Order: sequence, then structure tokens, then C-alpha cells
Amino acid sequence: MALHTLGCKLNYSETSSIAEDFRKRGYEIVDLGEPTDIIVINTCTVTEQADTECRKIIRRGLKAAPDARVVVTGCYAQLKPEEIASFDGVTAVVGTAGKSHIAAHAELYLEATAPIVDVQDLDDDTSFVGSSTAEGDSRSRAFLKLQDGCDYSCSFCTIPLARGPARAMAFPDVIPAIRDLSQQGYTEVVLSGINLGEYHAPTGERFVDVVRTVASEALPLRVRVSSIEPNTLTTAIIDIIASSPVFAKHLHIPLQSGSSEILRKMRRRYQPEHYREIVEYVRHTMSDAGIGIDVIVGFPGETDELFEESYRFLESVPWSYLHVFTYSERVNTPAAAYPGRVPVDVRRARTARLRALSDHRRSQHAASFVGNNVVIVPESYDAATSRWVGWSSEYVRVHMSGPELLVRGAHVAQVVSPLQDHPTEVLATWQGLSAPSHTT
Ligand code: SF4
Repeated sequence: MALHTLGCKLNYSETSSIAEDFRKRGYEIVDLGEPTDIIVINTCTVTEQADTECRKIIRRGLKAAPDARVVVTGCYAQLKPEEIASFDGVTAVVGTAGKSHIAAHAELYLEATAPIVDVQDLDDDTSFVGSSTAEGDSRSRAFLKLQDGCDYSCSFCTIPLARGPARAMAFPDVIPAIRDLSQQGYTEVVLSGINLGEYHAPTGERFVDVVRTVASEALPLRVRVSSIEPNTLTTAIIDIIASSPVFAKHLHIPLQSGSSEILRKMRRRYQPEHYREIVEYVRHTMSDAGIGIDVIVGFPGETDELFEESYRFLESVPWSYLHVFTYSERVNTPAAAYPGRVPVDVRRARTARLRALSDHRRSQHAASFVGNNVVIVPESYDAATSRWVGWSSEYVRVHMSGPELLVRGAHVAQVVSPLQDHPTEVLATWQGLSAPSHTT
């Protein structure tokens, strides 16, 4: 069987679990584009290109395996099942709640004579199916899904519809899941979720309890927190991350806009000044931390003045890199019907301006480590340059010269200079293995 994933890290993590289920049932996993009997495509939320992209993958899979059964799952499948069922070659459309049963239903798909649509209403879904996956082919960094779904109603977002209400991994399962990944050889685990800061275990524990427990365990690996909403990022969480050697000194905090008017239209749960306080607190407690921000440009009603307000706000906040998204209308969202559409060329120009600002800041952040030691988790070896590449605790991309054979784990490297052609990344020289208690 073959699998293909579109979209976010959580989707990759869930595809990994689907693959594992198939393996346990004796299936061999091959690459998409090789002869096979079942193809599973895990899709992303509805965008303008979702159907084109999905059809393209189906065609690619069926070209090499014309008789294969094609199962389409994920957010797009949840939101548009009938549309997908009408695509040529689709055997089954499986919604979000059915993802974990795909391997168990394989025989059903192999025998199907007409498209099967297995999509449930997610309104009352309280089930949580954990998953974890490696990034790329290396077994150095794994994403662990602790939380799924979202109860917020940001006006541009289809995720609550596609993934259902917020739910979380059972609290007692968290540390064993991290230890299990460590035993599999991973050196870094990224705690992930759709709205991670809204982690709320069935037994009442919140995300701060997860962070506190992780910090109190002698874990032999580095733990990174993935994206966390600013209204859920408390000073208690920041204090624990700042003082714990286990946690990477890195936080990614979506802002989306620096204009209070646009934030209100987006139905975000904070205002720019509150956001500033959070980021300044992070910078105050962790002076070197990587601080990432998501920004959406070209949201309906974002006039030149409001974009400039947002730009000035961003200039005044101490982050280290941006992820800039150009707004695109998504069906089933309130924002798609808002007045004040921003012309596409204006959206693109604003995106380019913010990306340039981001590159500048990212380069400054990278350059601030020159002469210092950082701890990197090597992910891949580039034989052409004889360098290992990986991320530092502070989320700086490091190219480290050193021995080709390294013990698996975190390593100390001295930063020599910014990388010549990519000043947002740095060159470093290997100093030795990092002590487990100082993994960050
Ligand atoms: S917090 Fe907002 S943007 Fe994030 S998943 Fe929930 S609704 Fe979507």
C-alpha cells in the first residue's frame, strides 16, 4: 500500500499512524507512484487548490497502479465528501473520525464495487487518537500529537469544522509516549496539537501541567513546544520552559495581525497590546529564544492604513522570525463573505514586505550566536560539504562541520559565522556530545 500526505505536521503524524496500522496487518508500504493495491491520501483543509491537488495525487497513484483502491481522508474529506466521491478512481472517502480505522477496513475497500462515504458529524466527537511521526527520514525529531480539534471560531479558519471539538491525550499517557519516542532513538520531541494551549485532559489537567511534568522528569531528550495561541500562553508556562534544561528555548505564537480592528474581525481572543506583553515576557525570561509569529496578510478589510499599523506593531515586538500567509478565501468561513476584499497583487506585495522583514530579523537572530556554543540535534549529513545540519534549541538552522559518524543525540557546536548564501542560518564547528541533563 502507499500513502500521501498534504498539509500540516499533525496530518503527517496521523499518516504515520495509519501506515503503522497497515504494517501491523502485514501490508508492505511502498512509495506513491509504485505498483500497489491501496492508496491512502490524507488531505488538508479546503483551499482553492484542494480539489486540483487531490485529483493530481490520485492520477499519479493510479498511473503506476491502475487497479489500486484509493481512500481519501483528512480535513478535505470531512468537509467535501460528496465532491471527492465523484472524482474518478476514488474508492472511499473517510472523515476525520474514521482515520484510525482505515487499515482495519482495508478488506472492505478492496472488495468495494461503488464509492464508500464514511464521514460522521464531529459535533459530539470526544475521542482522541494519539499519533507521532518523524520529520523527514531522520529519526532525530518526532512530532507527538497531544491535542486535537478546536473550540474557537476564528473567522478565516475551517479547522474546527474539519477536526471537530477540542480533545486531548490522557494525562498519564503523555510521559510514557515521550519516553517511547526516546527509546525509538529520537533526540527531540515536538509537543503538537491543533490548539495545544487548550490541552484539557479528561481528568482536568491543563497544558501547564503537561509542561510542569515534562520539566520534572529526567528525560533523555529535548522537548519543543509547537505553535501555541497567545491567550493560552501563561507566564507560568513560560517560566517553566525558561528554567528547564529539557525544553528548547523556542516558542511559536500566532499573531495573525498587528491591527486591533483586523484581530476583532478575525475573532481572535487577544489584542495587540496583550500579545506584546506575552512576547516581551518570553524575551525577558529567555533572551536568546527563537520566537516565531504567524501573520496573515490581505484579510478582508485590511486597508493600506491597517496593514501599516500591523507592520509597525510587528517592527516593535522582539520576535525572531515570521511565517507569513497570504489570505485566501475558504469556503464555509464567515470571512469569505466579508466586504473589503484586498486585490491579489496587493496581498502578494504585503507578503513580500513582511517576508523581507522576517529574513532581516532571522539573520540578526542567527548572527547573535556567532562565537557562542549552541546545542544542535543533527538531522542529516551533507557529504558534499562534510557538514551536519540541524536545529539549535533556539531554532536556528545550524550547519556543523564535524565527524561523519556521530553518536545519536544532542551535540554542542561553536557558531563561527552566518552561512554565506543564507545568512538566516549559521556555520558551526563540532565540540562534542551534549550532556543529557543539558540537552537544550
Ligand atoms: S485557534 Fe483559530 S486558527 Fe487556530 S485552529 Fe482554532 S479556529 Fe483555527
